[in-house]
Amino acid sequence: MNPAKKKKKGHLIVLSGPSGVGKSTVISEVLGLRDELYFSVSYTTRSPRAGEEEGVSYHFVDRPAFETMIANDELLEYAEYVDHYYGTSLRAIQEKLDQGIDVLLDIEVQGASKVRKKCPDAVLIFIIPPSFEELSRRLHGRHTDDEEVIAGRLAKAREEYKQIKNYDYLVVNDKVSRAAAEILAILTAEDCRTEHRIHLIEGDNAL
Ligand code: 5GP
Repeated sequence: MNPAKKKKKGHLIVLSGPSGVGKSTVISEVLGLRDELYFSVSYTTRSPRAGEEEGVSYHFVDRPAFETMIANDELLEYAEYVDHYYGTSLRAIQEKLDQGIDVLLDIEVQGASKVRKKCPDAVLIFIIPPSFEELSRRLHGRHTDDEEVIAGRLAKAREEYKQIKNYDYLVVNDKVSRAAAEILAILTAEDCRTEHRIHLIEGDNAL
C-alpha cells in the first residue's frame, strides 16, 4: 500500500522567492517528479509575456474582473505587486485539497503572509539564490530588463528577505536539481508527520 494514497487532505505548499531566483524552473522540475501535486494557476491583471499561455502560466484578466473576484470573496489571497493584481482562486485549490492532492502556490511574500493567517497548516518555503551577486547575474542574463528595472528587483529582493523568518523552510537554488530535491524532501517529510498519518492507525481501516 502506498500510504500517501490514503491522505485525507492535501497539503498547501507556498513557494516564494525573489524575481530571477529560478522559481518557475524549479517548480517545473518538482512537478515532473511528483504525482499528486497540483500547481495553482493564479489570476493576474498583468499582460502575458512572450511564451506565456492563458490558463497555464496565469489566468489573465482585467482589473474590473479581478475586483469582482475580490468583492465576491473568491480569492484565498491576493496582492498588488509592481502595479498589478495577483491572486489565488479559492475554489480551484479547495477542490484539490479535499481530494487529498497537495497544492503548490507560487506567490510573493504579502500573499504568503495572508495564507499563513488563513491556513496555519500551510507549509511555507522560501527559495534564495546562492548570493546577491548571482541573483544580479541571473537578472542581467535574461536580457529582458534594463538596469533600472534590475536595480528595482534587487532592492525588492532585499525587502522580501526580511520576511524569510516567517517561512518554515529555506531552499538555496544553486542548482535546479538540488533545489527540486530539497523541495521533494520537504513534501515527503510533511506526508510523514504523525498528525497527517494518525488516521492510518485509527478507526475501522487501521493498519
Ligand atoms: P511575475 O509577474 O514575475 O510572473 O510574478 C511576480 C510575482 O507575483 C512573483 O513573486 C510571483 O510569485 C507572484 N505571484 C504570482 N501569482 C501570485 C498570486 O496568486 N498571489 C500572490 N500574492 N503573488 C503571486
